[in-house]
Amino acid sequence: MNIIVTGGAGFIGANLIRRLLEDQSLFILNIDSLTYAANLNAIEEFDKNKNYSFAKIDIADKKAIEKIFREFKPDKVMHLAAESHVDKSISNPIDFINTNILGTYSLLNASCEHFNSLSDQKKTSFIFHHISTDEVYGDFEKNDDPFTEKTAYSPNSPYSASKASSDHLVRAWHSTFNLPIVISNCSNNYGPGQFIEKLIPMTITNAIQGLPIPIYGDGTQIRDWLYVDDHVRALKKIVYFGKPGETYNIGGSNEIRNIDLVNEICNIFDTLHSAKNKEISSFKDLIVFVNDRPGHDKRYAINSDKIEQELKWKPKEDFNSGIKKTIQWYIDNKSWWHRDQQI
Ligand code: NAD
Repeated sequence: MNIIVTGGAGFIGANLIRRLLEDQSLFILNIDSLTYAANLNAIEEFDKNKNYSFAKIDIADKKAIEKIFREFKPDKVMHLAAESHVDKSISNPIDFINTNILGTYSLLNASCEHFNSLSDQKKTSFIFHHISTDEVYGDFEKNDDPFTEKTAYSPNSPYSASKASSDHLVRAWHSTFNLPIVISNCSNNYGPGQFIEKLIPMTITNAIQGLPIPIYGDGTQIRDWLYVDDHVRALKKIVYFGKPGETYNIGGSNEIRNIDLVNEICNIFDTLHSAKNKEISSFKDLIVFVNDRPGHDKRYAINSDKIEQELKWKPKEDFNSGIKKTIQWYIDNKSWWHRDQQI
């Protein structure tokens, strides 16, 4: 079976491809333009596998995307490529419009052309899986129920608005052009190999280096955290067994305030390293509160009942063990984040 993964050099995409390649019957084509967020070590690692190929293409390049679809003839498409950092979407929104909206359009277009050329038998198994975020639902108000698949979209940042737009396009291509699609909206991921601009890897790598650990506002924003491998397990269930036209929410049932999360990472560092080497009494002394991000959502909370009941998925990793594994990975892989990740 041929599967196109877009954004396979990114944090979640690389973890996904690593798992997909465990199945020798799959041929994976990774389409990634290798932006600053790409993990070049993952590309080197996968290159050794005969079931893997790579194409350095910008997904918004319609002609190049159409050509590669004709050549590779995918049975499934898993679309993860995106500009994903909210702060960058505020300073430079155009990249988010180009990649997240126009890039998704270009993939839908190529998928439709390809789908229409398939035999009836091949058509029944084709799916375009769009990987999206819970941020499309916007801020969680005090008396709201956790976001379900029926919650109205209300994005607040250019990032979440661009992802919401792409979700709408994907749904419209299903309703209008009968393209078999499935959408998943996931909460915040953490784990090995995440680019250091995001909260958890930034906290860990700054602690390792004895650098200030910034927290937006008063740090009371609440996020639901999911270990990346649990997200990957959910994506595999959805791409194989998800019902065309449906949306599945994926969450960790693991809501934590940012300040508590950072304090917990500092507590773990206090047990691993002598903070005195950094001329501080505890790693918590490195925390600095910085001006809040504009439009910063206070809370996200996601209801995963549908995927749990229909596809029998549940997160396996407990947060305490997941965060320890993640910290250890950044300690053991300093050359990875030093070499590739100069922001
Ligand atoms: P990431 O930023 O780590 O990786 C994105 C990848 O996409 C990079 O390899 C980059 O080179 C590639 N890319 C960017 N623009 C491209 C373009 N125009 N053409 C081709 N490739 C391009 O992102 P991630 O954290 O792995 O997230 C992957 C997907 O999952 C995104 O769609 C994101 O919205 C979604 N998601 C992420 C999280 C999270 O917590 N990280 C949570 C829910 C959903």
